[in-house]
Amino acid sequence: MSMSLDEEAITSGSNDGIGILNSLPGLVWTTDETGTLRYANSRFADFTGLMIEQGGSLPLASFLHPDDQLLTVAAKKDAQQGGVQLFATLLRRRDGQFKLFNLSASPMNGPGGDVCWLATERLERIDNQISNADRDFRNFLDSLSLQALLLTPTLELEFANQAARRWYGSSPGVPMQDRPANFNLGNLEEIAFQLQAGQNRNEPAVVSYQALSADGTLRWLEAHVTPIREQSGELAGYCVLQTDTQDNQEDSFLLGEEMEILEMIARGAPAATVLQRLCDVVEDLVPDLVCGFLELSLDRKLFRMGAATRLPGEFREIFDGKSVISDKNPCSTAALTKRTVEIENLAESDQRETSMGEIMLANGLNYCQAIPILSPYGNTAGIFAILRHQQANLEPREQQIVDRAKHIAAISIDRTRHEEALVRRETQVERSQAQLVAAQRISSTGSFTSDIQRDENIWSDEFYRIFDLDPELEPSIDAVRERVHPEDLDLFDFEMKRGFAGEDADFVFRIIRTDASVSFIRGLARVTHYIGDHPVFMGTVQDITETRRAEDALRRGEEALLKAREELAYVSRVMTISALTTSIAHEVSQPLSGILANANACVRLLALDPPNISSATDTARRTIRDTMRATEVIKRLRAMFNRQSPAMEEIDLNEIAREVIALSARDMREKFIVLEARLTPDLPPVSGDRIQLQQVILNMVLNGIEAMAEIDGRPRRLLVRTALASEDMLTLSILDAGVGIAADAADKMFEPFFTTKRNGMGIGLSISRSIIENHGGRMWAIPNDGPGATVAFSLPSLGKPID
Ligand code: ADP
Repeated sequence: MSMSLDEEAITSGSNDGIGILNSLPGLVWTTDETGTLRYANSRFADFTGLMIEQGGSLPLASFLHPDDQLLTVAAKKDAQQGGVQLFATLLRRRDGQFKLFNLSASPMNGPGGDVCWLATERLERIDNQISNADRDFRNFLDSLSLQALLLTPTLELEFANQAARRWYGSSPGVPMQDRPANFNLGNLEEIAFQLQAGQNRNEPAVVSYQALSADGTLRWLEAHVTPIREQSGELAGYCVLQTDTQDNQEDSFLLGEEMEILEMIARGAPAATVLQRLCDVVEDLVPDLVCGFLELSLDRKLFRMGAATRLPGEFREIFDGKSVISDKNPCSTAALTKRTVEIENLAESDQRETSMGEIMLANGLNYCQAIPILSPYGNTAGIFAILRHQQANLEPREQQIVDRAKHIAAISIDRTRHEEALVRRETQVERSQAQLVAAQRISSTGSFTSDIQRDENIWSDEFYRIFDLDPELEPSIDAVRERVHPEDLDLFDFEMKRGFAGEDADFVFRIIRTDASVSFIRGLARVTHYIGDHPVFMGTVQDITETRRAEDALRRGEEALLKAREELAYVSRVMTISALTTSIAHEVSQPLSGILANANACVRLLALDPPNISSATDTARRTIRDTMRATEVIKRLRAMFNRQSPAMEEIDLNEIAREVIALSARDMREKFIVLEARLTPDLPPVSGDRIQLQQVILNMVLNGIEAMAEIDGRPRRLLVRTALASEDMLTLSILDAGVGIAADAADKMFEPFFTTKRNGMGIGLSISRSIIENHGGRMWAIPNDGPGATVAFSLPSLGKPID
């Protein structure tokens, strides 16, 4: 076979041109601008059986499959414009059979549109099996926007559609199968192995892997790998459909991270941990960016370092625990204004002097954005600081990442704050609950809420304890009723009936506890609200047994005291009167001796002859008078000694004073005491017990007498006065010229058992004061201007004067 050679056209003058062309592992030919075959190498001639005469030409149709001819025209055009096309094509062998070749077209140097073609043989199998159906399939794949690859069972690349070729890019002169690395076939091998071994042999496998794209960057691809089988079931290869998921990958990475971070928040991870993670994600996804989160205290006065993975350590120092207004740095300004602060060129801004600016510049960071993180109430809850070495606008995708991070940070910070507030509130609630329990315990008070009509009740622990009920027991009115003392059941039922009608309650009833002891319970209930038309009560139950006992004891004590006081008063009265015994005896014996003398005289006068009737009558009258006098004294004494319970009556103060004076008159005379009575006439009456009030006056008189017992050198004068002190008060005062009283004794005198007398008991005045006070009056003592003392009492008057 001879071949003419247009060396110039192919090798641009290289003498070795023919040798090189012939040594190429493929068929080589050239076409001119008309597409006519001008040159072919010996392998071409061997394969096709065609020869080009010197200066002759060959039509493409003579060796190209009809379907590929158009493709070849397009490829030639591309090649002429400088591109290299690589595609599969069918060439006719000399025996008429078509075989599959990878065909590439490259422009030739020199004028004209000459193109050099290189066809390298494809696998025998494909050559044999390529059919029109396959070709249709490939055309179909080419029309797809997703990348499609066909692989042999041994994972050699057989076909790549246009989208795939575009994605991988085409390097001039490098056949596709020489770039297996680009396809990261190692991954596919593993997938294929699994596909072959796995159960679902015909199921597509989905795999993600990174590959070098046309622009030289490693990008993520997601591939669906489907095994292709012969009718016999034998594996014929793989169809790989893949999409560039780099952007999605980042999105789904962010999404995945987002999910995890949100889960962290939901699990209650501390804000610092969450923010730390957010920092990492943002820094991983956005190149040349360091970021940090600052949190603000609840009162928005202090910064707290939330997280900063790659920020210089000094950042923590200048912000953590520091006042928001201490420095006018971007973060503070953003916190105060709630607006994002952006410093595009820090070195030339007025912020370079701030502590934050200095640290940034020292670390070569010249750009910053301080983004406020707002709470749901619109307050600044934190700051998201983004720092870069130099200003660079965030791409939309990066902006989105930053926005989402800010959003998540807001959720986390808000959550933490809520929890802090919640914990604080919970502790408060717990504390007040504990206080309530303690208070209920101490005061023996249980509380309850009751919808009495529905018998829906809530009882406090103390309620259970008071009623001696099992704490596990379901609250019910019957449970309480079972404890009620049989004698109080009617009362209890009555009150429940009133409660049913929505009336408040306040009543005391008894219960019998399991140990048979009886407790007094005071139940108090008020309607607090209505559910529908059901009244709902809130109330308390108080165990008042102890109080009751104490009250009883007190009452009994008071009764005993009263009795003792009465005894004492009696004793004191007896004693007071006994002080008068001598003079009283005299008082009685005097009329008695008068009676005796007069009776004797009377007898004598009547014995005369004639009897002296008129004189006898006079003496008899004197006898009667003396008898009456004696009777009067005895009557008074009996009254004074009488142990009667107090009886209130209208009393004329002047009258009882006169009676007392009469009783003690003789005693005074004997002791050389001059008594002066200045009793104001027409005084209104007082209400009182005659005997008790006389006892008081008598005691005062006797004390006055005793105070003057030793006095010589001045008149022993006792002045008894009654007066209307005010419209409704009467006073009785007794002034003496006795020893007087020391300044501090004026009150002490009234204390029980205070006495300055050798035989005194010191109870007279104390009893007198309590008698007067029981009558609604007052009793007091004062030293006189001159010698002696005045002791007095006042009593409320009954208003109208005595007739
Ligand atoms: P007693 O007369 O048994 O001492 P009282 O209660 O009547 O008991 O009086 C208490 C004390 O008050 C007397 O011991 C006396 O020191 C003082 N006292 C009472 N009345 C007078 C008075 N008119 N002048 C001076 N001291 C008096």
